[in-house]
Amino acid sequence: MLSTPPVDSLSHALRLSGVTFSYAQGFSIAIPDLHVAAGEQILLAGTSGSGKSTLLHLIAGLEDARSGEIEIHGTNFTALRGAARDTFRGRHLGMIFQTLNLLQGFSARENVMLALMLAGHSTLEQSTRADRVLAQLGITESHRLVETLSVGQQQRVAVARAVAGNPSLVLADEPTASLDPENARTAIALIQSAAKSAGAALIVTSHDPLLRSAFSRVIEVCEFTSKRVAT
Ligand code: ADP
Ligand code: MG
Repeated sequence: MLSTPPVDSLSHALRLSGVTFSYAQGFSIAIPDLHVAAGEQILLAGTSGSGKSTLLHLIAGLEDARSGEIEIHGTNFTALRGAARDTFRGRHLGMIFQTLNLLQGFSARENVMLALMLAGHSTLEQSTRADRVLAQLGITESHRLVETLSVGQQQRVAVARAVAGNPSLVLADEPTASLDPENARTAIALIQSAAKSAGAALIVTSHDPLLRSAFSRVIEVCEFTSKRVAT
């Protein structure tokens, strides 16, 4: 069982300390110290191939750091393994992917319910929360199969799925990469307001300089990365 973290550490959604990671091909990440406050919203900026997705995967526990600690909502997430890590991820992290990754053949409600099930919510809680969050995001016909919804509506379902469980932290990897500038601004505003309503901190990655003005804190991923060039 997880012990209750000290109150002070709960003022941070995320803390990385002494984190190192590398791929065999020579790309590596080193983060001595990085804090994200509860509810804070950050843009993780960098060109394509600069390491944004890799860093998000480390934070989400989808890749293992070589060393260091990744603390989410006061818990050393890196120390959790297997089912404990999956359950913790389900409860404390929401993820939005560029390709949305919605389950085709399932309704908007079922897509959101599945995420809530993985986070350990009861069936009743799953369906009431799913309908409430979808309605807040403008999806009233939650019974419709996701593939029958417009791209904009599908994006709303993906946002609903990420915030429905009131996570500590939402990670959005290039959520606007396939959108034109106007739709990109709308999508970012939607993600930011949904994260705020859910009380979650937010890290958005993007290679697009136009998004910078929407964030009061911008982190350049290249501050933490290096690439060994083969000789
Ligand atoms: P970004 O998301 O900023 O485009 P990535 O994190 O996907 O960048 O990639 C960072 C670097 O790591 C790139 O050089 C990429 O080629 C390399 N890389 C990404 N995934 C893998 C992998 N699974 N195995 C080896 N190298 C990888
Ligand atoms: Mg990427």
